[in-house]
Amino acid sequence: MMYRFLFGLCAIIVFGMSVTAQDYHSYANPSAVRVKHVDLDWRVLFDQKILKGSAVLTVERISQADPLILDTRDLKIEKVEISVDGATFVAGTFTLGASDKILGAPLTIPLPARATRVRIFYSTSPAASGLQWLEPAQTAGKQSPFLFTQSEAIHARSWIPLQDTPSVRITYTAHVRTPRNLLAVMSAENLSGPARDGDFRFRMQQPIPSYLIALAVGDLRFRKLGPRTGVYAEPHTIDLAARELSDTEKMVEATERLYGPYRWGRYDILVLPPSFPYGGMENPRLTFATPTILAGDKSLVSLVAHELAHSWSGNLVTNATWRDFWLNEGFTVYIERRILEAVYGRPREEMEAALGLRDLNEEIASLADRDEILHIDLKGRDPDDGSTDIPYEKGALFLRHLEETFGRARFDRFLKSYFNHFAFQSITTDQFVTYLKQNLLNENASLAAKIPVDEWINQPGIPATAPKPTSAAFGKVEEQARRWLDGMIPAAQIFTAKWTTQEWLHFLRFVSEPAVASSTTAGADRMRELDNAFHLTRSGNSEIAFQWLLMSIRNRYEPAYPRLEEFLLTIGRRKFIKPLYEELAKTPEGRERALAIYRRARPSYHPIAVTTIDDVLKWPSGQ
Ligand SMILES: [Zn+2]
Repeated sequence: MMYRFLFGLCAIIVFGMSVTAQDYHSYANPSAVRVKHVDLDWRVLFDQKILKGSAVLTVERISQADPLILDTRDLKIEKVEISVDGATFVAGTFTLGASDKILGAPLTIPLPARATRVRIFYSTSPAASGLQWLEPAQTAGKQSPFLFTQSEAIHARSWIPLQDTPSVRITYTAHVRTPRNLLAVMSAENLSGPARDGDFRFRMQQPIPSYLIALAVGDLRFRKLGPRTGVYAEPHTIDLAARELSDTEKMVEATERLYGPYRWGRYDILVLPPSFPYGGMENPRLTFATPTILAGDKSLVSLVAHELAHSWSGNLVTNATWRDFWLNEGFTVYIERRILEAVYGRPREEMEAALGLRDLNEEIASLADRDEILHIDLKGRDPDDGSTDIPYEKGALFLRHLEETFGRARFDRFLKSYFNHFAFQSITTDQFVTYLKQNLLNENASLAAKIPVDEWINQPGIPATAPKPTSAAFGKVEEQARRWLDGMIPAAQIFTAKWTTQEWLHFLRFVSEPAVASSTTAGADRMRELDNAFHLTRSGNSEIAFQWLLMSIRNRYEPAYPRLEEFLLTIGRRKFIKPLYEELAKTPEGRERALAIYRRARPSYHPIAVTTIDDVLKWPSGQ
């Protein structure tokens, strides 16, 4: 497919110097006409799997000569109206351009002089990439349908016509009509109270990028967790969710102590049905989360720390384009670990950082050089392709390098001032580097010389001087693992009683490493011994189950296959299902098994997960 080179040029003034951030994943022209506010009005039609209604866009005219250009994907535009005085609307014209596979289609609306508001009547497509419509059978309660959105990276355009680039920040209101007895929630302040009368109103008064607009509708219950924190989930899941997430208020307080006030009012978490393709999504005021973090022992709440951290890194200071995604995710992983350390202690942080480094090294072994660069070039590609461990773990390691070199107290002051300086702005990597030089590096040339900033940001791989996080607890796990691998003790005598999820994950990865295990673990016998001792095939912990199932495929451990099938049929989180399908696809029999499972699972996966797995299995399009 041909790719159009773009278009959205936004001029940003930095320190008196004009630089240009080109967002080649948007058709929009915000340097000429900029959307400032959107009023949304929808009916949620579960029977047709569409949203139907209107969006009123308030625009700022920088150039009077230019039309308004918006991003859309699979939207049915019914009519466009234009207002000059802000109140009276008259018929307008529009053209919808040809649709690109990645970008969707530009919607061009000519604007008469002084026109500042545009009303677009439209409906979404049942196949909208940013919406997932679940049948009652696909929910935990199995009684009511469920809808949720996922706008990042460029899926907002599949349910709202707007300037779908993170360089444009907007405020919004929404009026949402649903079937009675369901609850609608958004990434915004709820103005309607708890009544389930099918009529909901929302308001977001802080300017946010389009990828943070979010909506969910379902049979939801709410539990208070703290003065400004709470959780929404299906009735079936709400008790477990409230217990598991009970440290949320403590996490908000810990983050405020480090980086300044939480600026979004409430912080609630919505636990979604298991088809949610991500671990979490940092929608402001309302994190969306996978139910696979509910392990029963709070061992997987690092995800909450991560999404909460985005309230500073990402939502407050935002990547201006998807090339700068590491500014969102690298900072967030770094802060996530600082929150975990503050709430659960340093050993927990060390374990998470060591696991992160291992993931990063494994991923680097399989990535092309161009994909190992923090300031990645994604021209002509789907920005979701940039979502590897590089922006997350390499980005976090870079910040750790700065922290360890300049000292924690100094680096904490720097980060806090960075968040204040760029609050409610979208910035590029160049802007960050300039700020870093002026506010940290330039004050101590000998320390600055130890940090190869350009290599970190613009070169593949990891600099030789990078920190190497280690965990003392993992050292003890390895000692026991070696004794078992060397035949000195049976699996049943490995002392695991006090192991955390992180120690289990480290153990399983360690015994799978070719350099450590040679051929010893490459056998179903070893797998059977572990399974008999620890019942890993039946583990209810999603991370441990995932790691075990991956090993089961590699070692052809057939007793785990029914669980593998059940796992792939019920969970849609991409982090888990993509590696499992990839591992299966490495052998002809495995590929057959993968196709048979995928044929059944595909209709219940989210459109984003479907795109990924179609690609892994080379699924014929149109099937
Ligand atoms: Zn994130």
